[in-house]
Amino acid sequence: NTNAGGFDQGATYAELQLLDWLKEMMEFPRTASGILTSGGSVANLVALNVARSSMAPFAIRATGHAQQARMMVYASTETHNSVQRAVELMGLGTESLALMPVDDAYRLDISALRARVSADRRAGHVPFCIVANAGTVNTGAVDPLDTLADFCRDEKLWLHVDGAFGALAVWSPQLAPLVAGIELADSIAFDFHKWGQVPYDAGFLLVRDGELHRQTFASPASYLRRETRGLAAGAPWPSDYGPDLSRGFRALKPWFPLPARPRDVSGKSVDLGGRRIIKK
Ligand SMILES: *Cc1c(COP(=O)(O)O)cnc(C)c1O
Repeated sequence: NTNAGGFDQGATYAELQLLDWLKEMMEFPRTASGILTSGGSVANLVALNVARSSMAPFAIRATGHAQQARMMVYASTETHNSVQRAVELMGLGTESLALMPVDDAYRLDISALRARVSADRRAGHVPFCIVANAGTVNTGAVDPLDTLADFCRDEKLWLHVDGAFGALAVWSPQLAPLVAGIELADSIAFDFHKWGQVPYDAGFLLVRDGELHRQTFASPASYLRRETRGLAAGAPWPSDYGPDLSRGFRALKPWFPLPARPRDVSGKSVDLGGRRIIKK
C-alpha cells in the first residue's frame, strides 16, 4: 500500500525511471519533467495549468485572474472535451477557449488560427497556449505539429500536444512519422491505457521545462519538509508536479511492459525512423 506522492522509496524511483525512458522516447531534454495521472483528461488539466503559470504576464499563483486580461487557449473544433473542462476548472471560462475550424482532413486550420490570435491581441486579450492534437478522438487526425511549433515559437505561445492515444505512435517505426514534430512541444499528454495496452488508469504528462512544471505546483509545508535521510529524503517528489499528494503506485503498470517495447536484444539503442529508443 505505497503512497507514491514522493518519499525515498522504490515507487518514486520506478516513476522517475519511467520518466527517464519517456524523455528518451519523446526526444525531450534531460531537464524535462513528468507525472503519472489518472488519464489524459487530468494530464491536459495539469499541462494547461503549467502553461498558464509559465506564460502569464503577472503572478497568477498569487493574484489569480482578478482584474486581469482574458488569457486565451486555442484548439481545433475536433479537440477532446477535457480541454474545455480544464479551461472551465481553471476559472478561465469557455470564452477563453477559441475552437478553430479544421480542413478536409480534420486538422486545425492554421490561417484561421493566425487571424484569431492577432485579433485577440488587438482586443487586449493574452493568448498563451495552443492545444494541438496528435490523434483526435473522433478520427485520429493529427494537427500540423511542425507548423504549430514554428507559430508558437514566433508568437511566444505554449504548445501543448494532446496525444492521449496518438503520442505512443513514436513506439512504432511505421507510425512514428505520422506524429513528427511532437518532440517540439512544450508538453505532451498521453495515456498508457490506450495504445499502451496498460490496465486503467495510467495517463502521463511530459513537460519540456521541468522547473516551470515544479513552480506551478510545489508549495512548501512543514509536514512535507525534505530531509537528507529516512523516508523524507529523495527528490524530486511527484507531488510537487501535480494536484495530488497521496498517489498510488501507478508507475508499476507501465514500468513492467515498457522495457519490452521495440529494442535491440543487445540492449543498445535502436533507430526507429529517426527516433532513438534506448532501453536498459
Ligand atoms: C481518451 C482521450 C482523452 C481523455 O483521456 P482519459 O484518459 O479518458 O482521461 C483526451 N484526449 C484524447 C484525444 C483522447 O483520445
